[in-house]
Amino acid sequence: ARAAGGDYLAKLNPEQRRAVEALDGPVLVLAGAGTGKTRVLTTRIAHLLATGRARPWEILAVTFTNKAAREMKHRIGDLIGGVLEGMEWLGTFHSIGAKILRRHAELAGLKSGFTILDTDDQIRLMKQIIQAAGIDEKRWPARQLAGHIDHWKNKGLAPKDVPQGDGHVFADGRGVKLYAAYQARLKVLNAADFGDLILEPLRILREHPDVLAEYHKRFRYMLVDEYQDTNVAQYLWLRLLAQERKNICCVGDDDQSIYGWRGAEVDNILRFEKDFPGATVIRLERNYRSTAHILGAASHLIAHNESRLGKTLFTDAVDPEAAKVSVASSWDSEEEARAVGEEIEQLQRQGHTLNEIAILVRASFQMRSFEDRFVTLGLNYRVIGGPRFYERAEIRDALAYFRVVAQPADDLAFERIVNTPRRGIGDTTVRLLHDRARARGVPLTEAAAEMIGTDEINARARTAIRDLLASFDRWREQLETLPHTELAEIILEESGYTEMWQADRSADAPGRLENLKELVRSMEEFDSMAGFLEHISLVMDTDSEASADAVSIMTLHSAKGLEFDSVILPGWEEGLFPSQRTLDESGRVGLEEERRLAYVGITRARKRAYIRFASNRRIHGLWQSSVPSRFVDELPEAHVDVVEESNSYGGYGMGSYGESRFDTRDPFQNTYSTPGWKRAQKNRSGGGFDEASQGGYGNFSGPRSKQRFIEGDLVAKSV
Ligand code: ATP
Ligand code: MG
Repeated sequence: ARAAGGDYLAKLNPEQRRAVEALDGPVLVLAGAGTGKTRVLTTRIAHLLATGRARPWEILAVTFTNKAAREMKHRIGDLIGGVLEGMEWLGTFHSIGAKILRRHAELAGLKSGFTILDTDDQIRLMKQIIQAAGIDEKRWPARQLAGHIDHWKNKGLAPKDVPQGDGHVFADGRGVKLYAAYQARLKVLNAADFGDLILEPLRILREHPDVLAEYHKRFRYMLVDEYQDTNVAQYLWLRLLAQERKNICCVGDDDQSIYGWRGAEVDNILRFEKDFPGATVIRLERNYRSTAHILGAASHLIAHNESRLGKTLFTDAVDPEAAKVSVASSWDSEEEARAVGEEIEQLQRQGHTLNEIAILVRASFQMRSFEDRFVTLGLNYRVIGGPRFYERAEIRDALAYFRVVAQPADDLAFERIVNTPRRGIGDTTVRLLHDRARARGVPLTEAAAEMIGTDEINARARTAIRDLLASFDRWREQLETLPHTELAEIILEESGYTEMWQADRSADAPGRLENLKELVRSMEEFDSMAGFLEHISLVMDTDSEASADAVSIMTLHSAKGLEFDSVILPGWEEGLFPSQRTLDESGRVGLEEERRLAYVGITRARKRAYIRFASNRRIHGLWQSSVPSRFVDELPEAHVDVVEESNSYGGYGMGSYGESRFDTRDPFQNTYSTPGWKRAQKNRSGGGFDEASQGGYGNFSGPRSKQRFIEGDLVAKSV
């Protein structure tokens, strides 16, 4: 390790080196994307180890994802020239929290073998609690309660700490009582949910000075990556643990704070300097990741935000050949997917590997058209941070309904939805159906039809089954008479499935509803229900190996901290990105968070960034025009190339779509393809939020000195 010692420091610039060598006392590294914050953390750990300041298990290091933790371990190993062992406390807040909680489970009323509940279990348990309290679960759904409890836990509030007024938000003031009952029930079950992994350790550290002292002794040094996205509870944790030695180093970028909706608080950055007076604050300004064009575009875009600390970014990457950020449009999402497929194949022909290409979407429903297209093209892809589109729970549920309609003997499908949404057909009934089906050698639906004539199952379940079977009969008849997409909508409506998600107040419910709409939309490409289901079974079957060369598809949120040579950013349309829901719910604050997300997206690219928007989205079989995102408008002309595609804008008046469809709907159809593209968009009405933010910053107008890109002043604006 000693030999490697000098080596790793030589790979840093002077500021980075200062951040690595300032080992004692609080350090805050506040710097833009790609400036080497994560590299600084990794090198700091290597340095701590190499200089013998700490042994691996005396360092607490927090990353945002498990994947990032694994990568960091590898890198540290490389730096110190060997395999890193004993870094027990390198992980996410949740994994570290779980570890602390296991060690002191009894202090939280648990046994150390406690189970960690997933969201489904959590919801089921809350349902029971709500029902047990005699509250109407329809009116006050469990998922809504889950949202409140999450919120409290993110703030570090146990039931007794929830402020008076807050308790009124659920079931006429009974929210806090239910929260307490839920916590009590968790203890009985010897279980913890995700929020508890943060909240319970916090309580233990607060209430047991001896335990706190033990950790003070243990953790000589603490490091936190992606600090801008810590929530209050996590911050309180860090503060408690660091308060003795004060050897804490946090790195972050206020411009990349994108989890406000999940309780993260950028204010934690400001609190840091207050809580740790005399902290060394280091700014890194040189970006090592991206070309000057990519950086210029991202910097100019984010300068439209008012609430930011402000910082300087530049790159020395001088490459006259470097591509500008490309902005291209397509007719609709299908064409967008086709164009992206072509772009990728072209990159491939030029010798680029798929592993270095990523598609970053705002909403997960957008993934569908790309997945479909890639399957058709035989392009390997992987979905990161979530299931593939057709494997999502709500999609599988919907497909199960369609399958039973098309094929009554599909027992697996029938079983999946027989009680989803809940209609009073419990496990006992299903078991009875199974027994009967097995005994008679018939499918479940047939067994069910026979059994509703008997009194083997209870009356309520009997009625429910009768209704359900009648619905399936009706849908099967309609299959002959109605277009299959229309029928799909009818099924989702009449079965109560859509309604189930509409009643759901959890954070992911709107996304699931969007996915369902996207599913119906995707059916339009097929002639029949059978054809569609056939396609699905083929798509579901393609399983690209994890190790194979593959394009990554993920949401912008899960792309944080990652980098790729080529980044494709589709769907930059008003309403989709920025998301209308965010604008409606959080106004200007929401808009700025969306813009940060755009900044995160562009800055993932090393060499190439492709921004795209579709001028139409097909909704319920109707064309609806969409307007390019205001973020497209906010890109600096100097760093952007507007690409005209022959089969979209260039020739779209003559295309196969028919002119009458868009003549009045799309205000840009005549103007967008002209060189005055920026002007054309400026005509857009409803500037709303972004008008005001145009001022304040000197317009970014390209290279200041040789390849230097300055954006805003140092600490120009306060949050
Ligand atoms: P983000 O804000 O996106 O998380 P970051 O600030 O954490 O970015 P890193 O991921 O650490 O940035 O670094 C970005 C890229 O620049 C990486 O590929 C890294 O290896 C490289 N890099 C960082 N510092 C240097 C340096 N001094 N010399 C060469 N390459 C560097
Ligand atoms: Mg990073």
